[in-house]
Amino acid sequence: MERRPLPTTYRIKSFGCQMNVYDGERMGELLAAQGLTPAAEGEDAELVVLNTCHIRERAAEKVYSDIGRLLKTDGPAPLITVAGCVAQAEGKEIMARAPGVGIVVGPQAYHRLPELIAQASQGIRATDTDMPADAKFAALPRRRRSAPAAFLTVQEGCDKFCTYCVVPYTRGAEISRPFADLVAEAQLLVEAGAREITLLGQNVNAWTGSDEADRTQGLDGLIRRLAQIDGLERIRYTTSHPNDVTDGLIAAHGEVAKLMPYLHLPVQSGSDRVLRAMNRSHTAEAYLRLLERFRAARPDIALSGDFIVGFPGETEAEFAETLQVVEAAGYAHAFSFKYSPRPGTPAATMNGQVAAEVMDERLQRLQATIARGQLAFNQASVGRRCAVLVERRGKRPGQWLGKSPWLQSVWFDADAAIGDLVMVDLAQAGPNSLEGRVLETLAA
Ligand code: SAM
Ligand code: SF4
Repeated sequence: MERRPLPTTYRIKSFGCQMNVYDGERMGELLAAQGLTPAAEGEDAELVVLNTCHIRERAAEKVYSDIGRLLKTDGPAPLITVAGCVAQAEGKEIMARAPGVGIVVGPQAYHRLPELIAQASQGIRATDTDMPADAKFAALPRRRRSAPAAFLTVQEGCDKFCTYCVVPYTRGAEISRPFADLVAEAQLLVEAGAREITLLGQNVNAWTGSDEADRTQGLDGLIRRLAQIDGLERIRYTTSHPNDVTDGLIAAHGEVAKLMPYLHLPVQSGSDRVLRAMNRSHTAEAYLRLLERFRAARPDIALSGDFIVGFPGETEAEFAETLQVVEAAGYAHAFSFKYSPRPGTPAATMNGQVAAEVMDERLQRLQATIARGQLAFNQASVGRRCAVLVERRGKRPGQWLGKSPWLQSVWFDADAAIGDLVMVDLAQAGPNSLEGRVLETLAA
């Protein structure tokens, strides 16, 4: 690699989960603190960060095709940085396979980007995939800007070792950020414009910490404390694990007005045999009972889940059990994926890998069932009156898009601004969004 001047402009492209979106924002703040500016729309950036996801195969392949595209420019090639979970898992391979990449940095090491950029600018390719527990957050700059709906990572890593999943290998062991740091960051986000904060973690409800009085708290304790922040109107959290659900968290849904009526609780399969092979350590029945308890605490709660079809050995009858769970759960929304063998995970070498056509067909049936439930949930919302947080403009002048408490996208016409909370009547429902009629704007 050749020496080059230090970059002055950057672009960050985040793939995958919301935690990567959060990391992408924090990297942007770090680069801005070094004097770099984001490249304008349509302009080439001198530094490009691909903030990658390793959860499924296609996501990793996209990274290589993006690198190829970036190197094909007519002008000087940008300094390419591969960050995120692909960097963590395949750092060495990327350096060998893609000589155009200058920096590889893992998800626990991106606070070191300025040093790595300085090294790469000297013509020395730089890699940092260390996993120091929790060092990164303390080294990041203070939050100064925020969208009305902000993300806040509270927990990282995973100790569950589901047999199909790379997260325990790419994000490391479970760590919880300290209570006081999170309260401080949430306060800064609100001062910077956030009205809603979504608490993030690979298993966000595994979060634990000591509060101001040195009492041990779980996620519900953190939520109750954050709810005291003036100007913070809405709190959400994702993604939860069934085994980490506590009585306190369920109760919080009935007691904390700012906690939105939405729960994303993945189950992955409706078959107990498959769940055992996945090392999920809960049954389908226990999962459905948990959903019922959340519903009892907050009857209007919108439920969401994750499903994997075609896990090794999954039979047609076992897949049918998954469809039954979807019907029984009554989801407002759910994510579904084809099983993707991830190198190094136990499931990748299990017998009975399911043929691609079978997975395709099962995924289609599952998605049709989920879509029916989603439409039914949206239709049942018609006639409800609720607050919508305005997130962006629509295509038509005067049209806006915001989110209902149940995380539905709501379109409406009004004289509004991004960050407003407006009261709407939900008037019409489609499969993916609703139309609302505005009644009034609520005071900021
Ligand atoms: N920790 C959360 C949980 O276990 O519920 C989910 C985190 S994971 C990043 C997000 C989702 O990706 C999982 O719930 C699962 O449905 C899906 N996923 C993970 N590994 C996968 C694989 N090898 N193939 C297909 N989907 C996968
Ligand atoms: Fe992956 Fe399972 Fe951990 Fe979720 S709980 S991140 S699916 S290993």
